Amino acid sequence: MTHVAAEPSKAPLNTPAVILFSVSTAAVLTVFPWYAWAYHFSLGAWAFFSFCMMATGLSITAGYHRLWSHRAYEAHWSLRLFYMLFGGMALQNSILIWSSMHRVHHKNVDDVDGDPYSIRRGFWFAHMGWMLRNYPTAELDFSNARDLERDPIVMFQHRHYLALALGMNIGFPLLVGAACGDPWGFLLLGGLLRLVVNHHCTFFINSLAHYWGRRPYTSQNTARDNDLIALLTYGEGYHNFHHLFQWDYRNGVRWWQFDPTKWWIAAWSAVGLTHGLKRTPEFKIQRAMLQRQFEKTQAKLRACTQSGRLAVLQKLLEHELEAFAFTLNEWKHLQAERIEAARKQIAGQWENSEARRRFKALEDSLRLQRRRVRLLRLQTA
Ligand SMILES: [Zn+2]
Ligand SMILES: [Zn+2]
Repeated sequence: MTHVAAEPSKAPLNTPAVILFSVSTAAVLTVFPWYAWAYHFSLGAWAFFSFCMMATGLSITAGYHRLWSHRAYEAHWSLRLFYMLFGGMALQNSILIWSSMHRVHHKNVDDVDGDPYSIRRGFWFAHMGWMLRNYPTAELDFSNARDLERDPIVMFQHRHYLALALGMNIGFPLLVGAACGDPWGFLLLGGLLRLVVNHHCTFFINSLAHYWGRRPYTSQNTARDNDLIALLTYGEGYHNFHHLFQWDYRNGVRWWQFDPTKWWIAAWSAVGLTHGLKRTPEFKIQRAMLQRQFEKTQAKLRACTQSGRLAVLQKLLEHELEAFAFTLNEWKHLQAERIEAARKQIAGQWENSEARRRFKALEDSLRLQRRRVRLLRLQTA
């Protein structure tokens, strides 16, 4: 059960973070409206703002998160260089620190003593509070990030983080702005406003995406799927799916789900800048969704008060559970056949065979069964 760790309120302040967030927020609330009122922002400055929003946002979601934290795909050095530069501009710490901590978040999700930004310590804590003090839960330990320590781009950014962050946040907007004849406008929009908006958009992944929405794939943690949050977080709002299938390069797994990060990663694969995109087998996705349907139906039956009807519905549910066990068994046999075919080096032949059709039939049967179990639940008063 949840409990609050004893030391949080006594943890010392993280002064650089407090200064960064206070100064940037105060400036957005004062300098920014004053400048907008006294002068005006050029169209070029707004275009630069949009570009920087996209570049920093995607560098965090596609780079820091899906590439470096989860190894969901491989990326060409030029793309990693882009993520390194604009991820530095996002001011969310170095790739090494961010990714190592994010791996701890997945490993200990929701644990108040193990998850660095556990939602069980409150919405504010998960959103920003965890960065304002040096909590023991956010202590650095790179033993879970040895692979990242071997990436020269990651280590270059880690060693020169401060210079790079200052250069990208101040030098870069001033330079581009000067070339376009509006240095202060570019700095205020592309530097300051973008920084604060982008901070909160990505912080929502730790707060809102663990707080508000549905849980279609797992109820084992607080992560939620929410289309509205996906709009604000470059597609990271499908967080329930992500926590169950963290190595998938997609968070919004359906083609229609708004996930610009997955489209970005897939688009670059067309020209060879990304490859090895990992996808969860459809059967596993359907299996998780059906398990959730069973869970919800069983809970509803437990609350059902009509005893005559309850017996009938329970019988039906038992049949469905038996059918589910049968399908899982079939699938295990097919998996064993696939492994055997790979061992005999006839995998290609096997994939094109009848077995492929049988895999598809099992996926379809789970889909149909999910609908039946859902209908069964709807009949429960
Ligand atoms: Zn999470
Ligand atoms: Zn993640």
